[in-house]
Amino acid sequence: MTTLKDIGEFGFIKRFSENFKAPLPEGFEGIGDDCAVMPFNDREVMLITTDMLIEKQHFLPDKISPFELGYKSLAVNLSDIAAMGGYPVSAFLSIGIPPETTLEWLDDFFKGIKHLADNSKTLLLGGDTTKVNQSIAINIAVIGRCQKHLIKKRRGASAGDVIVVTGYLGDSGGALQALNQNLTVTDDIQNLIQHHHMPKPHLVEGKILSSYREVTSMLDVSDGIYSDIHHIMEQSGVGAKIFIDQIPVSSALQRTSVKHNWDIDEIALTGGEDYCLLATIKKQFLQKVKDVYENLLSRPLFEIGEITNTGQLELFKDDKRVTMTKTGFDHFRTDG
Ligand code: ADP
Ligand code: MG
Repeated sequence: MTTLKDIGEFGFIKRFSENFKAPLPEGFEGIGDDCAVMPFNDREVMLITTDMLIEKQHFLPDKISPFELGYKSLAVNLSDIAAMGGYPVSAFLSIGIPPETTLEWLDDFFKGIKHLADNSKTLLLGGDTTKVNQSIAINIAVIGRCQKHLIKKRRGASAGDVIVVTGYLGDSGGALQALNQNLTVTDDIQNLIQHHHMPKPHLVEGKILSSYREVTSMLDVSDGIYSDIHHIMEQSGVGAKIFIDQIPVSSALQRTSVKHNWDIDEIALTGGEDYCLLATIKKQFLQKVKDVYENLLSRPLFEIGEITNTGQLELFKDDKRVTMTKTGFDHFRTDG
């Protein structure tokens, strides 16, 4: 019998989503992008996204502090709002929690949520609470807004567009590897873990990029660029070239990878949970967008590849074509 394991998370979504995608009323966008879109007023649309974190599957309570877990639960949702070029307005928290949980843990968990909610001007407006026997389950939904004409989708990229990312890739994947291997926590590893446990949603980066019509598509890197670029390829009907030498990696990840003999390219491509943004930009406008972005943020916008019309993902290293076997995180699949 074929099971979910055989089709994977994306196969699962594909399987049912066709029945819900069309016809949607004017102005609505459903399954398939980082957020759903609903009409709001003449100028703005509403963005809605939801993400779930389950104990042992997404976090280990003895490795992540309750403060960090609260922060991260909200951050992963804000990242999806950033990916559309929007800003957050409100959040709803549903939590399944064992009765033995200490009040100290709970207070710290909510401090983590409050910290990021205040920083991002997100209002926690409601949720639901239920008792569970064992594993903690956390689901946050965030509602955001965006000016109608500024919204960025996964479709819109075309051949010749440059692929850019807004931050280092692989830190979070490196942290996971360090935690799984129980490595001694050096300053570098602490740095990686910080990115893994408290990813900064790239809301400002998303806002700047979305203000340009010449930015043709955008998403947040949650599963690793190797996997996530396929969303843009599929929805835009294009291919892509990624130049592995150009992928930005932190010095902390470089040093730790050398020390422990890790494959840094694989971690940077497939590690997941970096929560920076990946966008495509019309080549002739790249410099203009880069100049404004870099002036405002004093940080580079990294070019890592180019959109093609091949329909395929091609990876290059030292000007040579290379292939990858692993494909980032894909829940349910055994080879993911
Ligand atoms: P992201 O990583 O940006 O959160 P996902 O890859 O999780 O996006 O999901 C891709 C799309 O599928 C999104 O539009 C999401 O809303 C939708 N989706 C995922 N799971 C479900 C589900 N169980 N029911 C309906 N839509 C879903
Ligand atoms: Mg996303």
